[in-house]
Amino acid sequence: MTSKRTRERLVQRLMEQGVSNQSVLEVMSNTPRHIFLDEALSHRAYEDTALPIGHGQTLSQPYIVARMTEILLGAGGKMSQVLEVGTGSGYQTAVLAQLVDQVWSVERIKPLQDKARERLRLLGLRNVQLRHADGGFGWPEEKQFDGILSTAAPREIPQGLLDQLAPDGVLVIPVGVEAQYLTLVMRVGDTDEFKTQRLEPVRFVPLLSGITR
Ligand code: SAH
Repeated sequence: MTSKRTRERLVQRLMEQGVSNQSVLEVMSNTPRHIFLDEALSHRAYEDTALPIGHGQTLSQPYIVARMTEILLGAGGKMSQVLEVGTGSGYQTAVLAQLVDQVWSVERIKPLQDKARERLRLLGLRNVQLRHADGGFGWPEEKQFDGILSTAAPREIPQGLLDQLAPDGVLVIPVGVEAQYLTLVMRVGDTDEFKTQRLEPVRFVPLLSGITR
């Protein structure tokens, strides 16, 4: 149920759905998804669906995790420093941490962050920094990232995230309220110009402001 073989079946389905980045597929076949869920749900971890993680939030569908990661890695140059908005269970964080140098991840709900921290520690992933903060403003300090991936959907792309993109940096983010689209934004060189591409329709929880304890 939680074995490597089950994960390989999941990866097979991801390939059938068009995910082709070999590194992403390999990381997903090696990363246990069941440890990111409460025990009562862990038997469903390898279904290709979003699953509840409490506090009204969800662990993204594996296909979406794979797609967003693949888009981020394939869009531009080297992905060394990556910011994630919406740590949630920490599953997407764990996938990213195995593919880039350093992951910085913010979450507004403290108990979710605490659980995610424990799981990432269990997997021995040390290149992750977690912060309890409102990710709409990016990482609390002034920093620049090669890539930013948001797993919560704002009505409009927050300026704070654009500001934290390094030259040629890439932002992958679901945007919209009723109709939501996965959106790819690229900073043009070191200018303040951005190229935006609307990709496929998606369904994410909303990006909310402020933090909760
Ligand atoms: N990547 C997560 C997805 C969790 S759902 C996973 O794989 O499990 C999106 C998460 O974004 C939720 O945990 C929600 O609390 C968080 N979120 C929403 N608005 C936020 C904000 N402004 N700042 C930080 N996190 C936010």
